[in-house]
Amino acid sequence: MRVADLHLHTTCSDGSRTPAELTRAAHAAGLATIAVTDHDTMAGVVSALAAGPQWELEVIPGVELTCQVADRELHLLAYFFDDGWQAAEFQTALARAGRTREQRIVAIVEKLNARGMRLTVADVRAEAAAAGSLGRPHVAQALVKRGHVRSTEEAFDRFLRPGRPAYVDRERMSARDAISLVHRAGGVAVLAHPGLNRVDAGLRDLVAQGLDGVEVWHPKHTPVQVNQYRALAADLGLLTTGGSDDHGPGREALLGTVRLPEKHVTALRSRRMARC
Ligand code: AMP
Ligand code: ZN
Ligand code: FE
Ligand code: FE
Repeated sequence: MRVADLHLHTTCSDGSRTPAELTRAAHAAGLATIAVTDHDTMAGVVSALAAGPQWELEVIPGVELTCQVADRELHLLAYFFDDGWQAAEFQTALARAGRTREQRIVAIVEKLNARGMRLTVADVRAEAAAAGSLGRPHVAQALVKRGHVRSTEEAFDRFLRPGRPAYVDRERMSARDAISLVHRAGGVAVLAHPGLNRVDAGLRDLVAQGLDGVEVWHPKHTPVQVNQYRALAADLGLLTTGGSDDHGPGREALLGTVRLPEKHVTALRSRRMARC
């Protein structure tokens, strides 16, 4: 059976494999189809698309958009079955998200410096791919390299998570705006790991706003949650997807742990075609 993994990160955000390395590893893991879904950037998509055929791997352009609903952060996966994601409006929105990520890193570094810790924005940037998006994991790695903490977990626990002294919030797109942005670019919008970013009753609002699907299969979902979200998807008329959210060796190495039957990918593609 052909299987897919629709949630994967690369060095273009906080993953440890380059997009080309990811295609090779995905083939080795027995996958037929992958979606590259870096945080707020599609910088890795072109090289993954170029490398895929070598491994007889279908590569779906994607992105994991960081959004806001009420006081919560949620992650929206967007998938594209043509080149609509290259449109100026969508690229402009990604560029804006990239700038707010940068500004946030500058503010985090300032807070760490104010506590007497030596660290520069260049140190953080050195942990990320040139064209990729910066995130707190890159700060955490830079703190480890500078010897301020022993592990990235310690960096989050002591400094970087909400409530800690170097936590900085940032502006995010509303989920409503993100869904319509994805639709205008010809994509389908899927709520990522609802078990991690609980939206609960808010899910119905997202459906009313055009949400296409929900990520049912995710390594951090319990079997009970998988069944709940599957039933909920059936109730609400949502498509169902799954992905490992792999970040590569040394991060969260989960490639191959979610094996989504191809029929779910076909349904996503059909949803897009039905809207044309
Ligand atoms: P950002 O997008 O910059 O807010 O960073 C979020 C990313 O940081 C998540 O996707 C996780 O990979 C990672 N992360 C968040 N919280 C923790 C934590 N407590 N320990 C380790 N990594 C974390
Ligand atoms: Zn990540
Ligand atoms: Fe996520
Ligand atoms: Fe992710």
